[in-house]
Amino acid sequence: MAFEGLAEKLQETFKKLKGKGKINEKDLKEALREVRLALLEADVNYKVVKDFIAKIKERAVGQEVMESLTPGQQVIKIVNEEMTNLMGGTQSKIIFSSKPPTVIMMTGLQGAGKTTTSGKLGGLLAKQGKNPLLVACDVYRPAAIDQLHVVGESLNIPVYSMGNHHSPVDIAKAGVEYAKANQKDVVIIDTAGRLHIDEELMDELKNIKSSVQPTEILLIVDAMTGQDAVTVAESFNEQLGLDGVVLTKLDGDTRGGAALSVRAVTGKPIKFVGMGEKLTDLEPFYPDRMASRILGMGDILSLIEKAQSNFDEKKAMELEKRLRTQEFTFEDFLEQLQQVKNMGPIGDILGMVPGMNNKKLKGLEFDDNQLVQAEAIINSMTKIERNNPSIINASRRKRIAAGSGTKVQDVNKLIKNFEQSRKLMKQFTNMEKGSKKGRFKF
Ligand code: GDP
Repeated sequence: MAFEGLAEKLQETFKKLKGKGKINEKDLKEALREVRLALLEADVNYKVVKDFIAKIKERAVGQEVMESLTPGQQVIKIVNEEMTNLMGGTQSKIIFSSKPPTVIMMTGLQGAGKTTTSGKLGGLLAKQGKNPLLVACDVYRPAAIDQLHVVGESLNIPVYSMGNHHSPVDIAKAGVEYAKANQKDVVIIDTAGRLHIDEELMDELKNIKSSVQPTEILLIVDAMTGQDAVTVAESFNEQLGLDGVVLTKLDGDTRGGAALSVRAVTGKPIKFVGMGEKLTDLEPFYPDRMASRILGMGDILSLIEKAQSNFDEKKAMELEKRLRTQEFTFEDFLEQLQQVKNMGPIGDILGMVPGMNNKKLKGLEFDDNQLVQAEAIINSMTKIERNNPSIINASRRKRIAAGSGTKVQDVNKLIKNFEQSRKLMKQFTNMEKGSKKGRFKF
């Protein structure tokens, strides 16, 4: 997966920070040094890294962090926010013309994935109810025209081509006219690429631009080429003017530098990312979700949305209070179990939990039956036992196991886990009280 090395290093750094009740200037400096190195190793542009670290530092030494009860978390929150900003803040969508057809000009160097992405984008827009037309303007690579036809056919999207004996400008113009005459509301023009940027290529693209006045000019770049992708983007933007970038091959083993630098260097947003060779492997780019993924924070938003729709907030607050005061009983536990079950398979939920990255999830088996088993065990307890777990002695455990169709060991394990959670909660509450004294200040 892309970003694996970066994600691992950043998560390691933050784990150290999170473990500290308070952080001082030295801790922060060390953490930021590690973040800087991790970003440079991931091939993020040097200047981008420098500015990024400066911003984090400026915010992190402020009161909001040092006065906080959880300074480590606060630093991570700041890094997450700044990383999201670095990639453009919010999702950048395709702008559709108020006077159809919307003309999208696809540009880029050879091999970046232009033809494939033209098809993928057509497919994506067709799914959204658009009626796209693909136009084959790459007249120098004969296979490119055939390739676009194959892509169009498999997506059931029409392809306009005139062979390779006409100029790309004429084909582009004729393609737009064809779209107007045939009620196509989006025209996707697949232009020719070169191995390197040269004047001839740029002149041709400029000519197409001035003759069809595209609504959007997108640059397709290969994420695997790292900083080269950023340099290409800079150059295309200067010479042609871009509306957005599509970063392809993000499913590969890229270190991620391009994704983190493109926007900061060129000022142009990444609009889509290519996540595989299949024609459905194109996704809108969400800076916030990408940042969370890199930082191992999971998809918190989706998790909160899921929890909100399944948990009763008032009840949750009551439960929390009972946990803290150690009044939490198996009755409460049972209620919680039922609510968790409503949220869906445990594996899916854990995948969204902060700190649970793909790597950690790999190799772990999540058995929803354990929830069912816990529920059965608690159901076999009497009400008095549920409210006073300390009275559950050996003979009661035997009876509960028999009643729930489980083994005594299972009952023991559940009771042990339950007691441990209560103890942990008590320690946590005490720790919180203690940490209010003598906070660190710069
Ligand atoms: P063009 O020369 O820019 O038109 O590039 P192509 O569309 O022909 O793509 C070049 C190669 O990259 C092809 O083998 C594609 O299947 C592959 N490719 C394009 N996008 C992606 C992607 O997002 N992920 C992966 N793994 N391969 C891709």
